Amino acid sequence: MAWFKRERKPIDQATPPDERRVRTEGLWTKCENCRAIVWKKDLEANHYVCPKCQHHFRMNAKQRLELLLEGRWIEHDAGLASSDPLHFVDTKPYAARLKDARKKLGMNDAILTVEGLLNGRPVICCSMEFNFIGGSMGAVVGEKVTRAIERSIEKRLPLVIVSCSGGARMMEGAISLMQLAKVSAALARLDEVRLPFVSILTDPTTGGVTASYAMLGDLNIAEPGALIGFAGPRVIEQTIRQKLPEGFQTAEFLLEHGFLDAVVHRKDLKTYLAASLDFFMA
Ligand SMILES: [Zn+2]
Repeated sequence: MAWFKRERKPIDQATPPDERRVRTEGLWTKCENCRAIVWKKDLEANHYVCPKCQHHFRMNAKQRLELLLEGRWIEHDAGLASSDPLHFVDTKPYAARLKDARKKLGMNDAILTVEGLLNGRPVICCSMEFNFIGGSMGAVVGEKVTRAIERSIEKRLPLVIVSCSGGARMMEGAISLMQLAKVSAALARLDEVRLPFVSILTDPTTGGVTASYAMLGDLNIAEPGALIGFAGPRVIEQTIRQKLPEGFQTAEFLLEHGFLDAVVHRKDLKTYLAASLDFFMA
């Protein structure tokens, strides 16, 4: 009966729900810290720092190199790729995870290792990519960092590593843990020839990366508000059965307790780095 039953579509549904709103995603983004709505172009121009509250957004590996180095750089060992030695499977096969990440990001693993110019000075620089399986360190990341260190020694160039990582890569088991020792041994050789290594810790730097190269810099510098730690707060609380202090594992807390040499705002990072390298290389 046409009187009771609505036979025509209600006006509301004439346009599908997702087309009703003006599309603005992609242009604006919300700050995770102060919830301000920020125009993406403004954010980009401000080196991905919130103009309202100075919250440091995560940068990808390439943006980081663009922030620190001038013009072009030479990338090394881009072809190194994991062979999935354990044929590891969790919720999905590790091989499939690798394939997806490679396709999505156009890189073979979670780090870029390059030679470039920082304020006119040639440096070896490594930059980690968090979007690649949480920036985790497996055999490839370990090998690329080691080769970068060896290149520093061979060419007598300072080394800068920007960490952004969840830690060792679970899917490579003990092989990823071996990287901690390998990289640390290579850094000891760098120390013997008296070349500087500046470690930059960004949000987040945790697990095996903190437990190896991220904390072995001649200078360990963090960005404001960065989460830095070894195990997560929940694991620690459950192990020691104690409540952890406020702000525990933030860059500022670690600076106050002597784990870091400086916390440097992103806009000053390049200048700070350049000045440190001038000091070390003089
Ligand atoms: Zn903000």
